[in-house]
Amino acid sequence: MKHVYLLGYPVAHSISPAMQNAAFAALGMNWEYALLSLPREDLPRALARVRRDDCIGLNVTIPHKAAMFELLDDVGESARRIGAVNTLVKRDGKLIGENTDAYGFMQSLRDARVEPRGMRVAVLGAGGAARAVVFALAEAGAASIAIVNRTASRAELLGDKLKDEFPRLDISVNAVESLRDANLIVNATSVGMSPNADNSPMPCAFPRQAIAFDLVYRPLQTRFLRDAQQAGAQTINGLGMLVHQGAASFKLWTGRDAPVEVMFEAARREVER
Ligand code: NAP
Repeated sequence: MKHVYLLGYPVAHSISPAMQNAAFAALGMNWEYALLSLPREDLPRALARVRRDDCIGLNVTIPHKAAMFELLDDVGESARRIGAVNTLVKRDGKLIGENTDAYGFMQSLRDARVEPRGMRVAVLGAGGAARAVVFALAEAGAASIAIVNRTASRAELLGDKLKDEFPRLDISVNAVESLRDANLIVNATSVGMSPNADNSPMPCAFPRQAIAFDLVYRPLQTRFLRDAQQAGAQTINGLGMLVHQGAASFKLWTGRDAPVEVMFEAARREVER
């Protein structure tokens, strides 16, 4: 049997094992996706074991996405530009870091028939997921991107990195007023995640015409999305992104197309449990 792990600390409530194991089973593969909950100091030892044994790869989640960079043998183009790794693949005994969050986000927008080209976008958050989202939107031709984050210095850092990569893009940092005329508002913070489902990161009322995208998927209907819906906005929850980033990771590990519908079913069942 081959193994893939989700490495984080803690990782007890993840949906990924149900989703990935359903995909392996659907394709008749004797593979297992399991949780690996380890603190930062145990990472070098864990990765040494991954290099040796029958582990094919990993997903990486909070709080190890940034620390992973120093421990890898190489990083793929998307992970290098975004500055965050969520997937590791073992190739010829080497550990390569990749990022599938940006792909998952864009694919979920496509499913909802949202075309971000020319849009004024506001992104709440400046962590690993926000990095993937702003790079995906910049690459997709957004007209402007506003980054709003609790810790101003993190937003500034991300804004500077984005300016380096996209010098002609209109970028603003912590300008709350930019939310009022945004076409697309993305929650890339962890605010609103269960068990704090009554919290919202939105610092002002929702503009009427905006589309609201919440990366949080537990619960599916967050306070952020409820408020947006009440203001008449189109809403997109985090389930589609979760499934599509997982499907892209599946392809990197196995070389096979993921059974996306099977993964959707398994993920939905797990969230609603
Ligand atoms: P992260 O790197 O730890 O970043 C967390 C972000 O949330 C930071 O911007 C942080 O602000 C902000 N934040 C946390 N608590 C806050 C609070 N009480 N008030 C205001 N801001 C707060 O985490 P991440 O990897 O970016 O993940 C962020 C969220 O996206 C999580 O809910 C995660 O589950 C979700 N996610 C979903 C998918 C998907 O496929 N749907 C994929 C990736 C991530 P500070 O900088 O001020 O700390």
